[in-house]
Amino acid sequence: MARSDPRIIAPRTWSQNTRRLSNKLIKMGAPHTLAINCASETTASKTNSHMPRLHSDRRSASTCISSRSRALLSQQTPAILWSGLRQSCPFESLSWHIRQFLSDQLVARKFAPSAAARDVVLKQPYPDLAWIQAFFDFETDTGIGSGVFRLVPTADGTWKAFTVYTNLEDLKGFPEKTGLNREFLPNHGKWKDQRAQERAYADRDPEVIIIGGGQSGLDVAARLKLLGVDALIVEQQDRIGNQWRYRYEALCLHDPVWYDHLPYMPYESAFSIPLAGRTDPRPSQFPSVMASVYASTEGREHNMTLSAALADWLEYYAEAMELNVWTSTTATRVEQTKDGKWVVAVSKAGGPERTFHVDHVILALGFGGGVPRMPTYPNQDEFQGQILHSTQHKTGRDHIGKKVVIVGAATSAHDIAADYADHGVDVTLYQRSPTYIMTTKEGMPRLFKDTYWEGAGPTDVADRVHTSMPILMVKELHKRLTAEIAEADKEILEGLKKVGFKYYFGDDGSGFLYLAQTRGGGYYLDVGTSKKIINGQIKLKGDSPLAGFTKTGLKFEDGSELQADVVLFATGFAGAAQAIRKLVGDEIAGKLGPVWDLDEQGEQRGAWRWLGMPNLWFMMGNLSMCRFHSKHLALQIKAKQEGVYGTRYAP
Ligand SMILES: Cc1cc2nc3c(=O)[nH]c(=O)nc-3n(C[C@H](O)[C@H](O)[C@H](O)COP(=O)(O)OP(=O)(O)OC[C@H]3O[C@@H](n4cnc5c(N)ncnc54)[C@H](O)[C@@H]3O)c2cc1C
Repeated sequence: MARSDPRIIAPRTWSQNTRRLSNKLIKMGAPHTLAINCASETTASKTNSHMPRLHSDRRSASTCISSRSRALLSQQTPAILWSGLRQSCPFESLSWHIRQFLSDQLVARKFAPSAAARDVVLKQPYPDLAWIQAFFDFETDTGIGSGVFRLVPTADGTWKAFTVYTNLEDLKGFPEKTGLNREFLPNHGKWKDQRAQERAYADRDPEVIIIGGGQSGLDVAARLKLLGVDALIVEQQDRIGNQWRYRYEALCLHDPVWYDHLPYMPYESAFSIPLAGRTDPRPSQFPSVMASVYASTEGREHNMTLSAALADWLEYYAEAMELNVWTSTTATRVEQTKDGKWVVAVSKAGGPERTFHVDHVILALGFGGGVPRMPTYPNQDEFQGQILHSTQHKTGRDHIGKKVVIVGAATSAHDIAADYADHGVDVTLYQRSPTYIMTTKEGMPRLFKDTYWEGAGPTDVADRVHTSMPILMVKELHKRLTAEIAEADKEILEGLKKVGFKYYFGDDGSGFLYLAQTRGGGYYLDVGTSKKIINGQIKLKGDSPLAGFTKTGLKFEDGSELQADVVLFATGFAGAAQAIRKLVGDEIAGKLGPVWDLDEQGEQRGAWRWLGMPNLWFMMGNLSMCRFHSKHLALQIKAKQEGVYGTRYAP
């Protein structure tokens, strides 16, 4: 496309302008001079805005922007405002909601941050793409907030906010008990008894019940603890961490360790496991009476965390953070009373049922509700072998000498297939639909080097930078990154193509993060299994749809068959709705919205925010999302408990 649009300025000029403004902002540091106009006119079409070009033809990237991209970007000129958008008084109080406002939903408004813009940086990931990013702080009548804004230049020389993100950090008057707010008084040997009493709930109800003691439950419990909200976790398994401990042995996290820290207790430079005899620096909020012994490192390519070690870490975390946990305790029923309180019935193994009356219930039941998705196929009953879901698989050793077919081709399927191959088991992967493949070696540094990486800076900052970029914009940026990663992974991808493995590059070529936030799967972040598929250690079947079972295996629509002793479904999880309904019943379930995937504004549905009924919440996500958003959920609850919660901005 020729450079016919007068609104577009040459990237070089743009870049120079950007640097100039960046320097000016750094020198100024004066907040009142920096009023950000996040007006409805901040769309490219209405303001002569020169938006970052995300779609442009690479050959002529310096001079053009496709009409499609401009249309997309104008739709996506968002200001994510977690708080503060009131028609009359924008930042006077909180919106009590997590949501995004696209530009055409905003009215013109100005606000002045309460302190100097800080951490101003010029970001220029590509020669034709740059913005100025800065943090700011502000206050509302009830909250203390921080924000991140991004400015882009317009053709007339003015600068406009392209994204504005605000984040509630704390409630005024109710600071977290960390740092100088920690307990200073000596305890004189009463700590053990106090802890026992605290978690016994012999003569009191907690304010909050958290159902599920995986990372979702633990993270939000830790947040509530430091906000002084009494919360009890009930976990049906007999040990915290079992969810990871008893997943298949070969599981390890595929994200870099810097992405996976838990709140308040980051791992050391590599993953740490409890190890007697070593004392490492303790997190800053630990009361001084607390003694802890942990750490040691277990290196893996890119510092990936081992699932068994993560299980131990979660268990340790619950103890170290002094969370109130009842293990071997299953929540069986959740009901609401007329006064809006919640009744939760729990059954503790070997003991009588206990009914709690609480203000809030947090369902932390697991990714996709933890309910396995188990498809059925014709003649399944006739099959004489074993049928398993990936959640029932433990180790390849269990099937040595057998023929295994794995149905599915995303993460679990790959991990389990590799494990079988390592144990010399005859394993075939049956692939139904294409999978996004990216090696962690090539992909992770490109995706996370500025945020979640060694030396990239504090995780708290990374969380805010990362979240402040609207997912729809991330998607656009990731189209480029995904193409770059694919180029670097060319050899692997070509090898996979040769053996008939079907891959794609995610939604519109945007790679894995968007898939995670929408489908919660559909990808494999390769840590070695792809090579096993290429060299035939793992066989592949993907040329014909699965028609059903035979007595001795599977048959396909083209008439071909596969012999199998074991058919393992690595088909993911059913979704949260089923698990929620089981606990709350049809009537309440009917009032709740969906959990996961994105709403029309690009915000995660149902998790950490309004689910459909007051004081009933769902907590889920990967380790990183749970770390960050657990604070948002805890702050909403704390505000309600303290009577400072305002009116949720609902539209
Ligand atoms: C194979 C696999 C690999 C993954 N890899 C990664 C990764 O690399 N990085 C990443 O960040 N995330 C990963 N995830 C996603 C996510 O982090 C995990 O699923 C994680 O376990 C989710 O934590 P959670 O606390 O939400 O759920 P869970 O860990 O599943 O915990 C839910 C808990 O709720 C309990 N529970 C359920 N119902 C009840 C009840 N009625 N009463 C009492 N207790 C109940 C369960 O026993 C369970 O312990 C992976 C998930 C899977 C399945």
